[in-house]
Amino acid sequence: MREKRSGAAAGRLRRSRSFLLLAAFSLCLLCLLLAGVVIWARHLPVFPARAGCVAADLPPADASPAVTAAGLQKPPYPASHIYQPVYDPASGERLPVLALTFDDGPNSTITPRLIDALNERGIHATFFMLGRLAERNPEVVAYAYASGHQICSHGWAHEYRLTTLDDAGLAVEVEDTARVIRNITGEDPSYLRPPYGAIDKKTASRIRFPLMLWNIDPRDWDSRDAEKVKQHILDYAFDGGVVLLHDCYESTLSGAMAAVDELQAAGWQFVTLAEYYDLFDIALQPGVVYRGAGLADID
Ligand SMILES: [Zn+2]
Repeated sequence: MREKRSGAAAGRLRRSRSFLLLAAFSLCLLCLLLAGVVIWARHLPVFPARAGCVAADLPPADASPAVTAAGLQKPPYPASHIYQPVYDPASGERLPVLALTFDDGPNSTITPRLIDALNERGIHATFFMLGRLAERNPEVVAYAYASGHQICSHGWAHEYRLTTLDDAGLAVEVEDTARVIRNITGEDPSYLRPPYGAIDKKTASRIRFPLMLWNIDPRDWDSRDAEKVKQHILDYAFDGGVVLLHDCYESTLSGAMAAVDELQAAGWQFVTLAEYYDLFDIALQPGVVYRGAGLADID
């Protein structure tokens, strides 16, 4: 009787052990499955690694042009413009330069005001525009170009990492955007900045433009705080800095311009990337990834 009972107990123990083993195994399987889903989802636009400012900034289809025709009648600024270095009369040293770069536009309201603010200060910046938004806001592209700012490409719609695209997908990002910009300015965009900064050597070699990253990142899209944007630029400014900003936030417009005012008062110069590379005597190559005056350290 006791043996029977202990035999039944051992059976129960065995059953509960195998149940526990099965539960643990199922849990592991579930974890693996979840990890797989997360890894897969990160390649989708719904999970961008860096929040941009695109989704909320598509103007309504019927948005009226924010720029008047008068803005387009300014004489075109020569793209081949060579920046003349400015020297401190006291020390004889060249004054430091910064390149401001604005991604994810053109925005129908912020970008024209930013262009006005840059023009008022007599400085030029570089715009990495999305083809989709350039197509919707051609007046803004034309206004930036006619004001002497440099027009570059940021791909079509900021939906994909270029590193995940096949040739057809890459052609949409690179060539469709170039065509829209060319139709407005008469010129190809100068360079391409990959969305999210996501690029590798293999993908870069498939692109016919020099690829541009940055070396100062105020994370304006994250803080959306003018004071933080300004302070980051002031804290990290160095001769040869390339600042990553986004022309779709009020806070970026006011923060960046507040930093420009302080830096200009201290003698800093602001240049487009074309002027920057002329100044540092760097001949850019298509399919090569640059971070400021150096090559980007990528695989
Ligand atoms: Zn971007």
